[in-house]
Amino acid sequence: MTEELFKEAAYSKTADAKVYRVMDEGVILDRTIFYPEGGGQPGDMGSFRLQDGQDLAVTNTVKTSNGILHILNANKGEVIVGQDVTMNIDWERRFRHMRMHTALHLLCSQVEGAVTGGAIGAQKSRLDFNIPGERPEKEELEEKMNTLIADDHELSISWITDEELEANPDLVRTMSVKPPMGTGRIRMVRIGENIDFQPCGGTHVKSTVEIGAIKIGKIENKGRQNRRINILLSD
Ligand SMILES: [Zn+2]
Repeated sequence: MTEELFKEAAYSKTADAKVYRVMDEGVILDRTIFYPEGGGQPGDMGSFRLQDGQDLAVTNTVKTSNGILHILNANKGEVIVGQDVTMNIDWERRFRHMRMHTALHLLCSQVEGAVTGGAIGAQKSRLDFNIPGERPEKEELEEKMNTLIADDHELSISWITDEELEANPDLVRTMSVKPPMGTGRIRMVRIGENIDFQPCGGTHVKSTVEIGAIKIGKIENKGRQNRRINILLSD
């Protein structure tokens, strides 16, 4: 299996690892800073530098039963088990995912109603809510979000047991993404004192000010009570 360095060190852009397994589609390492697609967040892209100076492009990262698989589109003939590689992630893309992902937590805290779906992208992200009443007003929501961002609330990680989560089902805001249960402990992400607190395995910025200003895009009707809220980063 792969040690998941991105969970404790979301800001790591480069790190060394050893090749654990070579597969048809790519390579599994003993540890990785590459986030594998899941929970609405895309898998990381980037490259591996081999000891001979050769760079191999990583085009996607996914979870498998054997560990985290880095998809390589190049010839892997040079890669052998036990070999050292230096991982380099496409940081510009990944940092936008971290900003977007954290912004979606804030959005979640400002909109009443269960989350039924979502997707994170470097350019545009969205959450779908089941909103029984009035749909939120776009300008007002954008202003509330940007105030929370500018107020620079810190993010913190803690852990609870499967049993604690089962006893507090309200902690799960996203019906479409199951919290990562089964290992006995669940990773919880908190923003500020009590702005948002929910199980999540994704990568986030360390403080809301790092998100930068956002824009609320279209608020779309996707069924009787379903509202899709799109957000964009201002830069
Ligand atoms: Zn998250």
